[in-house]
Amino acid sequence: MEAALKLVEPIQPPSSEGYRVLARKYRPTKLSEVIGQDFLVETLRRGIGENRLGHAFILTGIRGTGKTTTARIIARSLNCEKGPTPEPCGTCSSCMSISQDRSMDVIEIDAASRTSVDDIREIIDASRYKAVSARYKIYIIDEVHMLSKSAFNALLKTLEEPPPHVKFIFATTEIHKVPATILSRCVRFDLKRIESPTLVAYFKTLCEQEKVTYEEDALGLIAKAAEGSVRDGLSLLDQSITYGTSHVTTAQVRQMLGLSDQGVLLELFQIMMEGNIAVALEKLRYFYQEAADPLRILEDLLDLTHWLQCLKISPSLAQEVTLTAEKREKGLELAQALSIPTLTRVWQILLKGFEEIKRAPSPQKALEVIIIRLTYLAPLPPLSELIEGITEETLEKKKS
Ligand SMILES: [Zn+2]
Repeated sequence: MEAALKLVEPIQPPSSEGYRVLARKYRPTKLSEVIGQDFLVETLRRGIGENRLGHAFILTGIRGTGKTTTARIIARSLNCEKGPTPEPCGTCSSCMSISQDRSMDVIEIDAASRTSVDDIREIIDASRYKAVSARYKIYIIDEVHMLSKSAFNALLKTLEEPPPHVKFIFATTEIHKVPATILSRCVRFDLKRIESPTLVAYFKTLCEQEKVTYEEDALGLIAKAAEGSVRDGLSLLDQSITYGTSHVTTAQVRQMLGLSDQGVLLELFQIMMEGNIAVALEKLRYFYQEAADPLRILEDLLDLTHWLQCLKISPSLAQEVTLTAEKREKGLELAQALSIPTLTRVWQILLKGFEEIKRAPSPQKALEVIIIRLTYLAPLPPLSELIEGITEETLEKKKS
């Protein structure tokens, strides 16, 4: 019966002609290979080692943080012939059959395509029979929140009195859609977004193993764009490796991600703050040549302003690993030179401009007007200094 169930992401046979995508090639097969989930790894390691895991788990987290991978690792760990062990051997027949996706006892179901109560009943009926060859019969149900209400109810009965040889591992991106009655019968694990420095370090080791050369800043940009998802990060790294024929450069990655040139953006910002309209508009033309979208440029300027403000308050932010050396240096310089009130005023003008650009018949012209406005306003001393000046002036006048 299990054979008829739809498997999630069947593992493809290793291709003989060269490149295999990184996410597949380096998919972790044991807990020690999982990155950025220290708490989860430690808890599972102890639970599996001491053999006191429950019979149902739910893994939740944003996409690409390793839910399915972790589910498979748990399955391997529980069913390894030398286990249960947090470090499955990878060579016994159970480990081999799971890694080749042909284990009769580890059944993966994509709840997104099998939501009905009949689908679940099929599973429940099958769960009464002992595992074919392994220790446990393990059901991995991906995107479990997609199950229908009646399917959940059917599942609940089994979760309340599970046969001792059955384990359930659920994965979901939307835990709030899973009924509380189900949740209360599961051990819950939250997979975190992977921190950028962890991703960068991971990408470095992969590049070295793949004999790919890289610019450090390029990996930082990829990590930042991945927003905590290993899978997204790896797919970007894949793209940049293919694109740059085994040499990952910052310029390529920037182009690939459609990022505006941060160096030029900082230059533009500085020129505006110095009040040089002609040069500022000339710089703007550089972005148009690169076919940048006016709204996107404005968004980048907003981001930059926010970042400069943060940098002004805590200069240690400049040490962040995802920053390019150029941005770090120039950013610190600008943050030092500009006052918080000035940066706040720039922020306000940009934010107002955001709406204007969206409404303007020509976004490009609207952006130019905003740049002119900023160039005019920025060199003004901060409001507090102005007030101070006025008071002093008034006092002087009164004195005379
Ligand atoms: Zn094994």
